[in-house]
Amino acid sequence: MSYSNYIILAFIISTLSLSIVLYLKLKRIKKLQDYIRNLEVTNQELDEQTKLIIKTDLELKKIQEELDRKVKSLSVLHNIALLLSKTLDEEEILKKIYPSFLEDLEIDKFFIGIYEEKSLRIKASYNIPHTALSQLELLFENKHQEYSLLSEKEIICNALNAPADNIWKAFILKNIKASYFMLLPLKSARQALGISFFARESPFRSFDETDLEILRLLVTHLAQSLENARLFEEAYRSRQELDLKVGERTQQLEKALEELKNISRMKSDFVSSVSHELRTPLTSIKGYASLLASEKFGKLPLEAKERIQRIDKHADHLVDMVNNLLDIARIESGREEFMIKKENLKEIIHNTTELFLPQVKEKNLNLVLELPPQEIPVLCDALKIQRVLINLLSNAIKFTPKGGNVVIRAVPLEKEVKIEVQDSGIGIPPKDLKKIFDEFYRAENISAETKGSGLGLSLVKKIIEAHNSSIEVESQTNKGTKFTFYLNRA
Ligand code: ADP
Repeated sequence: MSYSNYIILAFIISTLSLSIVLYLKLKRIKKLQDYIRNLEVTNQELDEQTKLIIKTDLELKKIQEELDRKVKSLSVLHNIALLLSKTLDEEEILKKIYPSFLEDLEIDKFFIGIYEEKSLRIKASYNIPHTALSQLELLFENKHQEYSLLSEKEIICNALNAPADNIWKAFILKNIKASYFMLLPLKSARQALGISFFARESPFRSFDETDLEILRLLVTHLAQSLENARLFEEAYRSRQELDLKVGERTQQLEKALEELKNISRMKSDFVSSVSHELRTPLTSIKGYASLLASEKFGKLPLEAKERIQRIDKHADHLVDMVNNLLDIARIESGREEFMIKKENLKEIIHNTTELFLPQVKEKNLNLVLELPPQEIPVLCDALKIQRVLINLLSNAIKFTPKGGNVVIRAVPLEKEVKIEVQDSGIGIPPKDLKKIFDEFYRAENISAETKGSGLGLSLVKKIIEAHNSSIEVESQTNKGTKFTFYLNRA
């Protein structure tokens, strides 16, 4: 091979290798270009994401600010509510909306007006000249017919250059410098109490939904506290009036009671003195009548004897009545002394019943004593309790037809002894039952000839009451009657 051929071969080989190198380089450049393009796309995407993040961050900041404001407003509201809950005085309540609270709520001007009859009284205000407030009070008095506009609806002016479409709006826009304001009614479930006013001066800070929500809550709270204060005041006043009335009435009753006591004392005194006066002539009438009837001064014609015997009987009855009257009057006036001591009730009962044996026999009554076998020691005035038993037993015998039953029962209980006098007689009509212990009262079912004065049970009741006890009666017409009283065991 010639030298030139070698050169050509070398040339070809170097060209070929150069081409390969070039090819490889180009390939590498292409790869790099692709890579750069990819990088550019990624860069763009990153840019967009950064923008999104910044936007989201801004929005989050705004929400955070909004939340902070809400929390602040709610804490102001909470503090006001706490203060309001501590007082029930209207004036005090109205003083609790401090300027610092208003500043926290970004309120620049404020007032509260309370309705009094047909006028409006401004009770609290902030940052509003007095002249404007007095003018508002005057306007209210003159335009009272427009009151419903204020008391029922909210008047909200939340846009710059809003139209003055009612007198209140027109007044505020003209007399109180404010960009945005609202007049919210203060009302409870019962009544319209007044109005509240909140305003902002800056044209860049209108009221948003949160502001409205918070201020409405504040006004509702305020109205509730005012209502509570009024209810408390009303309750307090009516309690005082009631106390006054009760005091007056008590005084009147005490006076009436005193008068009644006086009258009762006078009645007792009168009855006592009349009874005393009657007793002496009665005793002598009775004495003469018995003497004449005994025919010691000579025999009497039969008719005269009969009449004198009747005089004697009636005189007996009258003496009984006078004695009962005297006893009642003495017990009522407290002059009668009671000798309360330990006595044997069984003995008192036996002694009493013995007195009635002839009448029991005459009427063929079945008299039963239901007494325990042992002694029954009681605390009483024996003579007075005998009087009680005599009255009850004589009534039982008097009002029980022939052949009927009369029972005297004594039942020892834990601290007392129960004593009953029961009969199977004519009974007492229900409508008379309550009154039979009244003086001179006699039931309507007894015949006109039945002897008696209507004083016996009255005396019985007084004696039992003087023993710090009481007496009860149960009765059924034509079936019988039962009187029950108690004495303390000794
Ligand atoms: P008096 O027996 O003298 O009328 P009292 O005061 O003893 O007066 O009794 C008042 C009235 O009560 C009697 O008139 C009679 O109507 C009624 N009464 C009292 N005890 C009985 C009785 N055991 N049964 C029926 N009625 C009675």
